[in-house]
Amino acid sequence: MVIKAVKGVKDILPGDTAKWRMLEKKARSVFRRFGYREIVLPIFEKSEVFIKGVGETTDIVQKEMYTFADQGNESLTLRPEGTASCVRAYIEHSMYHPQGAVTPLFYFGPMFRRERPQKGRFRQFFQIGAELFGIGEPTADAEVIHLLTLLLKEAGIKEQKLFINSLGCGDCRPEFKKGLVEYLSGKKESLCDNCKERYKANPLRVIDCKSESCAKVIADAPTIDKYWCGDCRTHFTSVRENLKTLGLEFELNLKMVRGLDYYNRTVFEVIGENLGAQNSIAGGGRYDSLVKDSGGPSVPAIGFAIGVERLISSIGDSLKGEDESPDVYIVHQGKDALAQAFKIAGGLRELGIKTACLYKQTSIKKQIANAGKSGAGVCVILGENEISRNIATVKDLSTGEQEECPLSKINDAVKALRIKRWSGKG
Ligand SMILES: [Zn+2]
Ligand SMILES: [Zn+2]
Repeated sequence: MVIKAVKGVKDILPGDTAKWRMLEKKARSVFRRFGYREIVLPIFEKSEVFIKGVGETTDIVQKEMYTFADQGNESLTLRPEGTASCVRAYIEHSMYHPQGAVTPLFYFGPMFRRERPQKGRFRQFFQIGAELFGIGEPTADAEVIHLLTLLLKEAGIKEQKLFINSLGCGDCRPEFKKGLVEYLSGKKESLCDNCKERYKANPLRVIDCKSESCAKVIADAPTIDKYWCGDCRTHFTSVRENLKTLGLEFELNLKMVRGLDYYNRTVFEVIGENLGAQNSIAGGGRYDSLVKDSGGPSVPAIGFAIGVERLISSIGDSLKGEDESPDVYIVHQGKDALAQAFKIAGGLRELGIKTACLYKQTSIKKQIANAGKSGAGVCVILGENEISRNIATVKDLSTGEQEECPLSKINDAVKALRIKRWSGKG
């Protein structure tokens, strides 16, 4: 029996990894422009981090977490998202010092959710996340959204649609929830079984519910904008003005609540033009009470996460990885030549030159053909004729020009050719 990977979990193979690294590189470049610094978070945490942080009534906590007791009988969970971990680390390392500090962080890495397997969804999936702690101003909301949309644009998303909403605050959201529960009570029989149970405890989940019957009920439900308090209204107006200042187009979606409990005020989602409405590439929002609720000081925060698999599948082949081809390809014929090739390859690699060589006795013709296909700029030929004269033929594969050179001078010859070739390319 061949053992296969776990269902919903996939390998990222060479070829694709080059694209992934390129995406990371582009993301880093954008983060740097906005002053964000990288944090590397553990892949597992104590389960409370997520139960408290993500919210007990969320689908993630109720159905999707990989939770296990370790040998010391401690309940641990593979992280289903990054924000709760990031908040835990932010508090643990007192990153709120000195008082009033603004702390912009970003991270890359795998997240784990036991979702029903379906196309484009994985149980181990990757996110690029950002969190900005210490600033509650509406300019911060607009800046974070700008960062996200710029990152997606530079990654190769040509058309993106930005949706925004405000979920209100601790003062006005309870009123909205109350109004919503009242409305839903009257339509209880039309709700799905799941929502029949949860609509009182968390009516916002009904808005997110994917069942058709609930969607119908929600279509005429009261919307949050009627309930925004004065401060929330002013904040959101300012966010929209700031987005306009930056030339960012957006659409208001009053039905967008996001599936997590910790969001307040501004929430946002980006959908790629060629992905369905269900397939947002990225989303996030403000979470001004999560730090305090997690045992830290009262520090406002806002963040987002990008789904890397969806991003990569929607930009397709337009994302070119870095060139993985060798600089030099060494071909050889005969036992002595193979020994020489081995030695030369080692020396060139020490000099920082990407060198390919197949340590097998195969036809030199075939090896030369492979050298041509490899993308290498230089081919070092060690045929029987060359070896008997203690020389090598060094060939510039882009021009076809070649020259003979003593074996002792091979490094210099390769370097010279490589420099000539590269400067020729500009
Ligand atoms: Zn409010
Ligand atoms: Zn439902």
